[in-house]
Amino acid sequence: MEILRELEKIIEGCGVFEYGVIAPKRVSFMQEVRAMCEVNSCGTYGTRWICPPGIGSIQECRERCLEYQTMLVFTGKYELEDSFDYEGMIEGIDRFKKMVRMIDKAVNPLLTTYLLLGNEGCDRCETCTYPVSPCRFPQRVHPPIESMGIMVSELAKQIGIKYINGKNTITYFGALLF
Ligand code: SF4
Repeated sequence: MEILRELEKIIEGCGVFEYGVIAPKRVSFMQEVRAMCEVNSCGTYGTRWICPPGIGSIQECRERCLEYQTMLVFTGKYELEDSFDYEGMIEGIDRFKKMVRMIDKAVNPLLTTYLLLGNEGCDRCETCTYPVSPCRFPQRVHPPIESMGIMVSELAKQIGIKYINGKNTITYFGALLF
């Protein structure tokens, strides 16, 4: 697939660590992942349209992903001083978010329709409109991959890329569906 090779080159150029391809119909969408979001360890549950419950039910998220034929999954790997390096983790999230936005900019002219998943709690607006009125930028947001109900560790196994990349590193996952 010519377009796939082109997109792979783009994400390589944007600095992804690893990537792999899977058909969305082979991905498992699990209610138990939603339960992990509900614990709200990231603090964004119920505060943004791109996070649960605003993103929709697991079934709705699955149907949204199944509108696409190909899922190009990618990772960003970032160094930490030690396993308690919270600042390093936040810095990694920020760098990953920038990379996802760079990918968005680069693939936008090539694809008529796509869904780009990242790992961010959206910060595009000073105050999110959730739940009062619709999202201001539905075409520009990058919902966290977990918000779809995808168990990233399982996904990594399926496509043959690493979920963990060694001591004192943190790995974040994103995906381009097209
Ligand atoms: S783009 Fe704005 S309205 Fe939409 S989810 Fe992000 S912060 Fe909320």
